[in-house]
Amino acid sequence: MNYGEKAPALWDAIKSEEKRQEDTIELIASENIVSDAVREAQGSVLTNKYAEGYPGKRYYGGCQYIDQVEQLAIDYAKKLFNAEYANVQPHSGSQANMTVYNALLKPGDTILGMGMDAGGHLTHGSKVNFSGKIFNSVSYDLNPETEELDFEKIRQIALENKPKLIIAGASAYSRIIDWQKFREIADEVGAYLMVDMAHIAGLVATGAHPSPIPVADVVTTTTHKTLRGPRGGMILSNNKKLGKKIDSALFPGTQGGPLEHVIAAKAQAFYEDLQPQFSTYIEQVVKNAQAMADEFKKSENIRVVSGGTDNHLMIIDITKTGVTGKDAQNLLDSVNITTNKESIPGDTRSPFVTSGLRIGTPAITSRGFKEDDAREVARIIIKVLDSPEDKDVLTNAKSSVKSLVEKHQIK
Ligand code: PLP
Repeated sequence: MNYGEKAPALWDAIKSEEKRQEDTIELIASENIVSDAVREAQGSVLTNKYAEGYPGKRYYGGCQYIDQVEQLAIDYAKKLFNAEYANVQPHSGSQANMTVYNALLKPGDTILGMGMDAGGHLTHGSKVNFSGKIFNSVSYDLNPETEELDFEKIRQIALENKPKLIIAGASAYSRIIDWQKFREIADEVGAYLMVDMAHIAGLVATGAHPSPIPVADVVTTTTHKTLRGPRGGMILSNNKKLGKKIDSALFPGTQGGPLEHVIAAKAQAFYEDLQPQFSTYIEQVVKNAQAMADEFKKSENIRVVSGGTDNHLMIIDITKTGVTGKDAQNLLDSVNITTNKESIPGDTRSPFVTSGLRIGTPAITSRGFKEDDAREVARIIIKVLDSPEDKDVLTNAKSSVKSLVEKHQIK
């Protein structure tokens, strides 16, 4: 076998995935479609290089160009978010969060984050995750009436449990988050405030969502969701002293060699995000989400959790259709619409079954969907969930999806 000979089975699978993406309406709120330039940077020779340490302070030789790459990523990130400090090395959002906990906490300390069934992330203190095993985690949920954050309740839980760290931010929450209210609670109980803005980072970058940077002690994010970059994480802060602690908590505290090819792709994505077209893109993401929510609200059997959306996603309660979240996800997969099952507030079904779906518009907007297309997608979903066993409905849904994806090809 020659060095570099392609493994046929592997490349068949990659080709199939490429076709699946082209043929599918992608509504998973945490996914997106990156530019060719982002993919090129990630596939570059930078993957060959070890660069433990930080620009100007490496443990290996030959890092002069790697330093330029990482410094560009840092500078673009700081400019994009108007932040004093950025660390672009976390391999993922989870590792960004782990690094912050590592910097600020000791094992056994109390952390307060949003419960997973309310829309929080695993790393915000779930008992099956390191965050809930190493730390004493307590959680807050949503007001059952408004299905929005309930700051008085969060304050009560904080006063009772005296957390050392409060985590704001979510994986499945469709409303604007008032960072200042979290700040006030954190100050009252003497806690650090960390904001995990992974989902809404693109909206924060363009001003479509208020920025947590001036309010929180530290902000974490992924780079692959609304920021439309490579899969990875990042940590930002306006507190440079804290930044020093975070740098050493990341390396050598949490990770070894940084993925400099991914950091190059992050730099390319941030460069794209700094262009005026990115604001237009984010505006369209929000318009598309609102158009879909609007259409769902016209249906008899689907309810939009909290009554609508201010961002790139919504949770729909499909209890009245009689279809579970799990079955809805499979049913929609069969007509080439990709979603994910999601618990609704107070869900009586298990997280493996659920009574809802999470629907997001970042990926369809990247391929050019506008409000009319988004409305049509919502109507297809309504029809499928209203008549899950009607073969004609499913056949028609599949052909409507085909027309839409052909109209908006991934370039
Ligand atoms: N934080 C939030 C709010 C998320 O939604 C996610 C992922 O979906 C993460 C962190 C973790 O990111 P990763 O999957 O890169 O570890």
